[in-house]
Amino acid sequence: MKDTFKYKGMRKKLINELREKGISQESILEAFDCVPRHYFLDNAFAEQAYSNMPFQIGSGQTISHPYTVAFQTQLLDVRQGDKILEIGTGSGFQTSILCSLGAKVFSVERHKPLHLKAKLILQKLHFTPRLSFGDGYKGLPLLAPFDKVIITCGAPKIPKDLIDQLKTGGIMIIPIGEGEKQQMKRITKTSETELEIEEFGVFSFVPMLEKRAK
Ligand code: SAH
Repeated sequence: MKDTFKYKGMRKKLINELREKGISQESILEAFDCVPRHYFLDNAFAEQAYSNMPFQIGSGQTISHPYTVAFQTQLLDVRQGDKILEIGTGSGFQTSILCSLGAKVFSVERHKPLHLKAKLILQKLHFTPRLSFGDGYKGLPLLAPFDKVIITCGAPKIPKDLIDQLKTGGIMIIPIGEGEKQQMKRITKTSETELEIEEFGVFSFVPMLEKRAK
């Protein structure tokens, strides 16, 4: 796959759309300019890669809407060097946006084919996150604590292990809810035992499921 002026032009339009919808952090818009989203999609979808739409990526999963990726990233308030745990690598697109912002990214995916595919694309783009095949509910205890945690699938409730792996003062962005719709939440770990929870509207994600897929 190649990046061309045509795709670059399409990205500029998408960036304007994101700006109009309220994404104001310039570094995030720049990251969307740098990362070719069509690399993360099947060739058949390349022409639509810069419309604000989700697409099938295999294993019954979808790449999130660009707006959803930008919105979660904005809530995450990414700083250079932040150590971030992502649950749900999927296509690797969200991972690459976080890398592009200078974060040290650790991402977990429960479907092996998606994990392997994301690994190849991210290597090709010269991003160096640490990708794991595993159950995101468990997180990565040996690599904890993390400054931030981002969950890109719909969780039925706040996963306790992942709160334990978050630093005090750290934040988790997580869509919570079973079924079709989830409430986007920002959880701040204000102390070892206390959480502050804020809500940011309704989104639609594939479910966060237990255990690695077969
Ligand atoms: N961030 C991705 C979104 C992919 S959809 C992107 O930009 O493409 C969400 C992903 O979460 C799916 O790939 C799904 O397999 C994965 N997932 C669901 N439950 C999980 C779990 N318990 N651990 C790790 N990944 C999980």
